[in-house]
Amino acid sequence: MALLEIVLEGDPRLRQKALRIREVDDSLRKLAADMYETMMEAPGVGLAAPQVGVLRRLIWVHVPENFHDEGGPELSIPLVNPKIVKAQGSVIGYEGCLSIPGWTGEVPRAEVVTVKGIGLDNKPIRVKARGWGARVLQHEIDHLDGILFIDRVEDKSTIVQVPDDEPIEGPVEAAD
Ligand code: ZN
Repeated sequence: MALLEIVLEGDPRLRQKALRIREVDDSLRKLAADMYETMMEAPGVGLAAPQVGVLRRLIWVHVPENFHDEGGPELSIPLVNPKIVKAQGSVIGYEGCLSIPGWTGEVPRAEVVTVKGIGLDNKPIRVKARGWGARVLQHEIDHLDGILFIDRVEDKSTIVQVPDDEPIEGPVEAAD
């Protein structure tokens, strides 16, 4: 396994649409393993392949149990070709991104999402998540379409700087 370099905002690869993956093979599994290691090292709660410069539809979501005291279950899963098939409700929360280090902002997201995709074993996966799990899924799937969280911030005055030594990906707690 290897740590991968995270692509930063301004790099055109973050603004392109990632390609659909036809079949999961060993090279994709190696990429997924390296992405997982990179995400854990950052640390982050999610990572999308374009963030390591690979324009393919692969994401990792890694939200620990009871993240930010929400009381939700752990959601740790790699997804190939993830697609939101159902979205319910709306909720606003702060997010950050490993590709935009040092910044956070308030992003409206669906409260509950159902996502379909393929696992690293080529078998179909269907995930239903709420709260932070749902938020991170939406954030990472956006990356596959070249969308960054700052594009989704409705009230631009909520975009604020956070200390550089707190790299984040996905939801963060509101800064005072
Ligand atoms: Zn991100």
